[in-house]
Amino acid sequence: MSTPTTSWFRDDVLIGGSWQQSAAAANVENPATEEIIGSAALCDEAVVDAAVAAARKAAGAWGQTAPAERACALDRLVAALKDRREELIEVTVAEVGVSVVNARAWHVDLAIELFEAAAGHARSYAFEEETGNSVLLRKPVGVIACITPWNYPLYQLAAKVGPALAAGCTVVLKPALLAPLSSYIFAEATLAAGLPDGVFNLISGAGSAIGNALTGHPGVDLVSFTGSTAVGRQVGATAARNLKRACLELGGKSSSIVARDADFAAAVTGTVESAMLNSGQTCSAWTRLLVPAERYEEALEVAAAHAKSLVVGDPCLETTDLGPLISATQKADVLAVIAGAVARGARVVTGPTSPGNDVGHFVNPTILADLEPNDPASQQEIFGPVLVVHPYDTEADAVEIANGTVYGLAGAVWAASTERALAIARQLDTGQVDLNGAAFNPQAPFGGWKDSGIGRELGALGLEEYTEITAVQR
Ligand code: NAD
Repeated sequence: MSTPTTSWFRDDVLIGGSWQQSAAAANVENPATEEIIGSAALCDEAVVDAAVAAARKAAGAWGQTAPAERACALDRLVAALKDRREELIEVTVAEVGVSVVNARAWHVDLAIELFEAAAGHARSYAFEEETGNSVLLRKPVGVIACITPWNYPLYQLAAKVGPALAAGCTVVLKPALLAPLSSYIFAEATLAAGLPDGVFNLISGAGSAIGNALTGHPGVDLVSFTGSTAVGRQVGATAARNLKRACLELGGKSSSIVARDADFAAAVTGTVESAMLNSGQTCSAWTRLLVPAERYEEALEVAAAHAKSLVVGDPCLETTDLGPLISATQKADVLAVIAGAVARGARVVTGPTSPGNDVGHFVNPTILADLEPNDPASQQEIFGPVLVVHPYDTEADAVEIANGTVYGLAGAVWAASTERALAIARQLDTGQVDLNGAAFNPQAPFGGWKDSGIGRELGALGLEEYTEITAVQR
């Protein structure tokens, strides 16, 4: 373990370019060891006021900078993040409990890639566009309140802060208290990159204590929230009362449809990988596997064999696939959902517990079978390493099952050809669909239908969320 270049025990917040001490701090636990590894400030509403005021003060000048100048600032930020890459990986493993392999790829390197992409969008985006006798001016919205969850803290931050800065907005970030430490290192990187004072501000605290003060603040122009659907509803309502826009990235319960002509083993194992990534704490995970009825038992065998082959344990080891869940509460909640499903007749094909792992919030990959698609375990977001498998008769039935939840965030289709898979994907009411295990595209818009949210992140559309239009006729 390398020595952190700055302490992970923080009780301060970054406002207007300087660190200010808070009256209180909350401990941060390593979910694998249950040791206290750091802390983060617990702010009150006065701190929210100060942070929004600092962001407001900086908004005018930053919003008027040339996009190319903002791109250069983002380039410097990328360089500063690369300087802290090893520590960011280490802190992410420590605070989220994710395996180091996944922390490197999905949390840190992808986040840095998103800042590089934001710099690119600042350079290439058409901030002015002609239509008929009008010129459309796309201006920065102003002050953005960014609220992030604990499951991919740095990635979620990057998906919001990168495009907001590229668009010319200023930011007040409030990360989740369970995993706030990477946001502190990010804040230090903004100082190292020489971002003007107040362009990026970091506050910290319980959402229940300061969330409403931030999302309902008259000085905030737009709220960008990623988190649970329940809190998202509240955030959207608060923003709406002030007639402010809220971009909401919420929960999911996504299906992976395996067509009869698909590469069956690749489809089933690929779905297990998705369901278990980040110990199942991924909003876009494919947590429902839909297979042709005549291959149901075979699917359960293949899925269970793959789930059992995944290594659960010390997230610091390169050989580990799954670390623990984020907290004791999260583990208890996940086990309670599984127990409820079992009480309703679910067959546990593999998981959730095994000897060992007395310390840490570990849950083994779990496969559930013999549930109706409308069972709560197949409807609600579990946010743990749990895959539910359903048989289907016709492809139309599979589509109906996939569309039959309140969510619409992601999904997968596996078939013998891309064209066949695309024909099925066209029928899915969801924000993203991956065909035959296609790679994640950080330039493609990401966001949800239905209870999965409002708005899109990533790509040029992600930047556009942070703009407002003036149409000038001549
Ligand atoms: P959460 O909703 O409990 O908290 C998210 C953030 O909101 C935290 O920073 C929290 O402090 C804050 N918050 C809580 N109450 C608030 C309030 N009243 N006002 C303002 N802010 C408040 O979610 P979580 O448990 O941190 O994260 C897990 C959830 O996030 C899952 O449901 C998951 O699906 C979702 N998620 C969605 C996406 C996506 O892009 N769609 C990505 C990652 C996670």
